[in-house]
Amino acid sequence: MKLINNLYFYPEQGMLDCNTYVLKGMPGIIIDPGNPDYLDTRVAAMNQDGIKPEDIGVIINTHLHIDHCGANEAFKKLSGARVALYPVQKKNYQLVVVDGARLFGIEPGEFTVDYLLEDPILKSGNIKIEIIPSPGHSPDSVCFHLRQEKVLICGDVIFEMNTGRVDLPGGNADDLKNSIEALSKLDVEYLLPGHMSIVTGAEKVKQNLEFVRSNVFQWL
Ligand SMILES: [Zn+2]
Repeated sequence: MKLINNLYFYPEQGMLDCNTYVLKGMPGIIIDPGNPDYLDTRVAAMNQDGIKPEDIGVIINTHLHIDHCGANEAFKKLSGARVALYPVQKKNYQLVVVDGARLFGIEPGEFTVDYLLEDPILKSGNIKIEIIPSPGHSPDSVCFHLRQEKVLICGDVIFEMNTGRVDLPGGNADDLKNSIEALSKLDVEYLLPGHMSIVTGAEKVKQNLEFVRSNVFQWL
């Protein structure tokens, strides 16, 4: 479904899947293609919005847990898009992708990387995507801030009424709290997490942050 301008949202469809976000521009960008088992239905939903796989040129991830990057390789084959990683994601690849999957007793969702994104700003048409490193849930977590559109695509850093877990390899509660505090300074009307519902409206985003601070931080 369309959220704002060229930004589309495809909700998670089941276990070990995640919310996917797509920017329909030049290049088209897919953020977190999710679980390969759900790729057909995800692509069908994109088609309904007039987005074909070949319209997507770049695959990026909020972090490399398998529920977010499991379909990187399958979507790449389907679309011809290239997988781009941030340096912090490349650095932590073994810990997050391989050790993380082993902890669950599942095969790592490995994929081939096409290039590194050294620039903290990525463009899709006239939309600017700023990268904000946000460690805590995982050491390689980044958020994508569309400053102009007041959008924050935040992966598993913060959810509706919760935060991401910190007990997976490289997780760190203090880092997560610091990351969330830094994000709270941004002007956000669309908080777009990697799981469960999205939070829309500046007031609701602020209330969500207050809730998390008062009710979740103490348990991390
Ligand atoms: Zn995760």
